[in-house]
Amino acid sequence: MYFQYPITALFSVFAFAFGLIIGSFLNCFIWRLYKEETLGGRSYCPQCRHLIEWFDNIPVLSFLFLRGRCRHCREKISFQYPLVEIVTACLFWLAFRNDYLSPQFSWLLIRDWLLIATLVIIFVYDLRWQLVPTRVIWVMGLLILGLNIFLGISWQVNVFFVAVGAVFYLIQYFLTKKKGIGEGDIWLGAFLGAAFPSGGLLLLIMVLSYGIGSIVSLILVYRSKKKWKSRIALGPFLATGAIITLIWGEKIITWYMGLFSGR
Ligand SMILES: [Zn+2]
Repeated sequence: MYFQYPITALFSVFAFAFGLIIGSFLNCFIWRLYKEETLGGRSYCPQCRHLIEWFDNIPVLSFLFLRGRCRHCREKISFQYPLVEIVTACLFWLAFRNDYLSPQFSWLLIRDWLLIATLVIIFVYDLRWQLVPTRVIWVMGLLILGLNIFLGISWQVNVFFVAVGAVFYLIQYFLTKKKGIGEGDIWLGAFLGAAFPSGGLLLLIMVLSYGIGSIVSLILVYRSKKKWKSRIALGPFLATGAIITLIWGEKIITWYMGLFSGR
């Protein structure tokens, strides 16, 4: 049904291809953010610092063609690169499929794509360096907050949920005596409140991220990679929960409510 219109099929391909390019940009952005480099100038191999030619910088294809190694020094290229590109592309397409029938289609899609890009950054950055990139969260949070208000959500409601998200982690921050939760997680909570101004969706993010977090922690402990007390970064789980909620949240909540309203 969705693919019966040639125009939606065409736009799907565009959304996917655009996602690949943005994914490639995000890889580069995450690295330069960490290294505190500017965004100008061509990409280079982090190992041998050789500049990367445009034909070696094509999302996914170059990785396959080079068999995951730098052309000059043969150092392995991280699997993160093609993975981030493909995941971003899939998510960009899924967001398009969610939004394309909405009357506010274009603004909604821009907001969702900005949100996906930010969540991908948070996921990779926190996973690699156990740090939440707060500056990115401030800028993108304000942008998404503005877009939500523009899309018709009252600013009082939106600001209320920013506070809810922040306070939720602020409480844990003090309860765990600043050990379990980092300052970055408080900003992350505020960001999620700005992006999802809805109690149901925020609750779903929490349930999903703590659920996934517990399962992954158990597996890690079982395979004795981590000790019970070692800190596992919260960001990747929150980002995963938020992405699932963005794409399938309404459906999950409708399904869940249906369990209780059947007769
Ligand atoms: Zn190299």
